[in-house]
Amino acid sequence: MRRLLGDAVVAEPAAHYLADATAQWRGISGHADAVVLPENTGQVETVLAWCTEHECQVTPRGGGTGLAGGAIPLSGGIVLALERLCAVRSFEPERWRIEIEAGLRTAELQRLARESGLRFPVDPGAAEQSQIGGNIATNAGGPHSFKYGTTRAQLTGLEAVLASGERIQLGGKVRKDVAGYDLLGLLAGSEGTLAVITAAHLKLVPAPESQLPLVALYPDALAGTAAIERILAWGLEVAVLDYLDAGALALTAASFPIPVPRDAGFMLITETDGSAAEAARLHAEVSEALADNLLELHAPTAPGEIAALWRWRDGIANQVAAHRGGKVSDDIAVPPEQLAAAIAETVAIGARHELEALSWGHAGDGNLHSTFLVDPRDAGELRRADDAAAELFAFAIASGGSVSGEHGIGIAKRGQLARQWAAPAVALHDAVKRAFDPGEILNRGKKPGAWPAG
Ligand SMILES: Cc1cc2nc3c(=O)[nH]c(=O)nc-3n(C[C@H](O)[C@H](O)[C@H](O)COP(=O)(O)OP(=O)(O)OC[C@H]3O[C@@H](n4cnc5c(N)ncnc54)[C@H](O)[C@@H]3O)c2cc1C
Repeated sequence: MRRLLGDAVVAEPAAHYLADATAQWRGISGHADAVVLPENTGQVETVLAWCTEHECQVTPRGGGTGLAGGAIPLSGGIVLALERLCAVRSFEPERWRIEIEAGLRTAELQRLARESGLRFPVDPGAAEQSQIGGNIATNAGGPHSFKYGTTRAQLTGLEAVLASGERIQLGGKVRKDVAGYDLLGLLAGSEGTLAVITAAHLKLVPAPESQLPLVALYPDALAGTAAIERILAWGLEVAVLDYLDAGALALTAASFPIPVPRDAGFMLITETDGSAAEAARLHAEVSEALADNLLELHAPTAPGEIAALWRWRDGIANQVAAHRGGKVSDDIAVPPEQLAAAIAETVAIGARHELEALSWGHAGDGNLHSTFLVDPRDAGELRRADDAAAELFAFAIASGGSVSGEHGIGIAKRGQLARQWAAPAVALHDAVKRAFDPGEILNRGKKPGAWPAG
């Protein structure tokens, strides 16, 4: 491979290419024979054709912020890191669209859009490090996905390279396209198991003139979720509906921009946006919807205060993990009206397994980050956390929900899809994998329908 690609091949992979954010908090890492850092799509084609010919395993890698172990190389082979493939191929702000390469970092895309009065509305928490290819491969979401949708909603086209080394182009600048099956949708969330994404066409939206966050504190989850129900029932289209339960609040309140009342057991973060007049009108109506049982309302308006709030929001995962050094955090989704039950069940499951448990997440989408705090060096605790997670998944499925709303299956949730889907659907899932990657060189063993494979 070095004869073909020269310096793009690094034979002694630096440790950070063997792990992702899952490793940091759960102690999982892998091994690889080499890292390849392609600079263009042609080099990706060369790598994959070579790997198919030599039956060499390939682990596609973006920014390594994934929380399901998807970018961890399990069985040697190469790590295909997309970081040098980061050009902006075209940017047409007046038409609200951009074509970028997969290795561009999410925050860089957000910055580019902002500088032209536009917005890329997907805002996953690790945006300074994650890449757009990784966002597509996990169909990442963020707080603003409640109003604007996840990465898939912004995607109009993809360039990708198949395991065979052949390049495909799906969609493009066209905003509507039903000519074939929805292969764009299939690759969004495919976690590097079907193809390597090399570039994407994305829609942008005009930046709202005004964004006004509102943070409401309640004594408990029942009072907080009742406020969410009122916002929805009154037809108030807020951009964000995020929450923290009592446990998450206890670990993060000290760094919150204003003092948090001692008896607060639930935080609701919401935001209104639009023209200055629209955002202000909605802000007044949402404030009214939040009023019952309210302990405290924080309504920052100065840009610095608003930025401080979102910086704090982005840091929740790290602050929670710092408490015991590690966490086993799963991203179940339930029908939103079951949020209060899921919050309570997370804590109850933790107690049954002698683990401190808490949650925060995207309330409007019914998407919890249900978290069991662990010391990652304690094998017994990690085992108990895995048992607790299995109970959590069973709860999500019984609630009509999903074992993963956001982070994917990767290796962390192997076998769970077969609990959620009926056997014929799981067989179809695995047939799709075989159609794209018959030699199973791409991320083998990740996101399987049936597990053990076959
Ligand atoms: C502090 C923190 C906060 C987070 N907050 C959120 C959040 O709010 N919402 C959310 O959805 N996620 C969140 N995440 C998870 C993570 O940031 C997202 O899953 C993100 O989209 C991963 O992107 P990445 O570039 O880091 O991908 P990686 O971690 O490098 O890879 C993730 C998966 O995508 C595959 N992949 C990566 N690039 C490509 C490519 N070009 N082609 C094919 N496959 C590829 C990998 O093989 C792997 O399976 C958070 C993580 C952290 C650490």
